Amino acid sequence: MVATGRRAALDELGLEHVDLRPTDGWLAHDSTMRTAHHDIFVAGDATGRFQILHLANQEGTVAGHNAAGGEPSKRMDYRLKMNVIFTDPPYASVGMTSRELEADVAQGRHVVASSVRLPQTGRAITMGAEHGLWKLFADGKTGEVLGSAIVGPRADDLIHLISTLMYYRAAVSDISQMPWYHPTLAEVMLNLERELADLMPGLEKAPPPPA
Ligand SMILES: Cc1cc2nc3c(=O)[nH]c(=O)nc-3n(C[C@H](O)[C@H](O)[C@H](O)COP(=O)(O)OP(=O)(O)OC[C@H]3O[C@@H](n4cnc5c(N)ncnc54)[C@H](O)[C@@H]3O)c2cc1C
Repeated sequence: MVATGRRAALDELGLEHVDLRPTDGWLAHDSTMRTAHHDIFVAGDATGRFQILHLANQEGTVAGHNAAGGEPSKRMDYRLKMNVIFTDPPYASVGMTSRELEADVAQGRHVVASSVRLPQTGRAITMGAEHGLWKLFADGKTGEVLGSAIVGPRADDLIHLISTLMYYRAAVSDISQMPWYHPTLAEVMLNLERELADLMPGLEKAPPPPA
């Protein structure tokens, strides 16, 4: 159904009476979710952007706040946008994508990336996982976690570890300060951190996992 595409049901709302013309079936808006009409706000699928529930909820909160004249006004921030594809194994990502990072690097930003093959890690071995890769991206100067992509067992849940770190604008070095139960898929975060620390001299390195 995602591949086929969906359109918002805007036809019968009488938008033409307020001179609001959808572009390609979607309503253009600014970061406060205000449309071209000063008093009309939009959220969710009608924005034509991501068509994902958690972003529709976030946009709805921003639109509702601003429509009610809330001060200061809120702006939509897509920094924590997540994507999950419920394949087997699942795929999940949050924050910047590899492609966005490449574009940033091309413009001179110092971004570092690490990746770990899940079948080579403890818990994945006990689960018999044959496939899986976890990537982590961070700002090479500040160490701030910028994004992640995972394909492998429980990727849909594991990605929330990264979105939590990103919500609090945590740095890669914070990962090594936190406890991680062994053996879990989550503790792979330590492997990812160690690889990034090698690329960012000065960051504290996580101790190696037990043999
Ligand atoms: C089959 C399917 C599976 C999905 N799976 C996922 C998923 O796994 N994860 C995920 O994040 N997202 C998923 N989505 C997408 C997600 O459901 C939508 O992005 C999200 O619901 C958009 O929220 P919304 O408020 O814009 O629209 P909706 O949730 O569709 O709400 C719009 C509401 O407006 C009502 N309405 C429409 N026209 C009028 C009218 N003229 N007057 C009054 N009421 C009206 C509708 O009845 C509906 O209740 C899926 C969507 C589909 C169709």
